Amino acid sequence: MISVAEGQSRILAEIVPLREIEPLPVARSLGRILAEDVLAPFDIPPADNSAVDGYAVSRDDIPKEGKARLRVIADLPAGWVFDGVVERGETVRIMTGAPLPKGVDTVVHQEITEREGDTVWIATIAAGANVRLRGEDVMEGQRALAAGTQLRPQEMGLLASLGFPEVMVVRRPRVAILSTGDEVAEPGQTRRPGQIYDSNRFSLMGLVQEVGCEGLDFGIVPDRKEELTSRLLAASETADVVLTSGGVSVGIFDLVKEVLTEIGGIDFWQVNMTPGRPLARGRVGKAHFFGLPGNPVASMVTFLLFVRPALWKLMGRRELEPKRFEAVATATIGKKLGRQEFKRGILTFNGRRWEVSTTGPQGSGILTSMVAGNCLIILPEERGPVQSGELVLVEPFQQP
Ligand code: AMP
Ligand code: MG
Repeated sequence: MISVAEGQSRILAEIVPLREIEPLPVARSLGRILAEDVLAPFDIPPADNSAVDGYAVSRDDIPKEGKARLRVIADLPAGWVFDGVVERGETVRIMTGAPLPKGVDTVVHQEITEREGDTVWIATIAAGANVRLRGEDVMEGQRALAAGTQLRPQEMGLLASLGFPEVMVVRRPRVAILSTGDEVAEPGQTRRPGQIYDSNRFSLMGLVQEVGCEGLDFGIVPDRKEELTSRLLAASETADVVLTSGGVSVGIFDLVKEVLTEIGGIDFWQVNMTPGRPLARGRVGKAHFFGLPGNPVASMVTFLLFVRPALWKLMGRRELEPKRFEAVATATIGKKLGRQEFKRGILTFNGRRWEVSTTGPQGSGILTSMVAGNCLIILPEERGPVQSGELVLVEPFQQP
């Protein structure tokens, strides 16, 4: 039996990030991993400019108290520059975003001015007010984004503001997903007595896509050796990762182990955790292989704990640690000493602090515990039952 942490580090040690990179329009790069550092080709903003609509003045013309009158010599909309120099006693009416003309360093916002023909009265204001300085956001030459960043909407915007229509990203890993077992039926088809509909292939497909990988549906494989062998080999020809669920426990029809030993390589682990426990990892041909347990909750939880970090590393992501934090348990939580347990929790903010409770029945077949929940409650091996009011570690299902 190995610990969760040991399984995780053994898995990560086997993963080498993909090297293939590709250009992509920035507008389609959401969730992709930046393949290289992005250096800023120029300052943002490119020039000192006005943060408000108002009048651009020299600090020497600002009255210490009361008001001062200046002559308005031009109107400057955003997108235009004023070529001349603003002399003492003069001002330019300026719009938000317009570059500051020579001779001025402060903008008096419109609300504290009073126009009078081609002159304007201005009230007192701090020198340098309402000016956005050149380079205050990004400086030319600065590393604006680091390789390995997973692109969010704000990174897409930043890339565009630096003038890039395209971005170099790492190729998306392809993940083949198969379900195993004679008892598993395809939704939409008739279900024989004794059969259940396949849920794992669909929840795993969602998880794979949520991580930012491409999911390939390889269907359901019955518990027959030749069929499983040929399907796994086919999957390994197009996929970087082959993911199965079911068939890794010790049942008589559990073939995954036998087949993988012949066509690749396999480590078959008992992980000291619940739900989960049986877990297989290895290779089929050139592809990585993960054999997840068949129970619907166990397959999702083991994906989150073992497969997701592996995919993150494979896809070139820098951040491999899921974000976890502490919350207050609002009720007692049952826990057996000596193994790590992952309860499904409902995490809420009560206006003062983060609180969490379990979703109810926690059996590893109760998929509605994942549906009702939004996080894992992580209870370490050495911990016993949790009392109401105690702190517990939580990991939100969705990780930015
Ligand atoms: P196994 O790991 O194959 O022994 O399966 C353990 C349990 O998970 C059994 O109750 C199976 O019926 C169930 N199971 C296996 N595969 C799936 C699947 N694809 N969808 C839903 N339940 C499954
Ligand atoms: Mg099975």
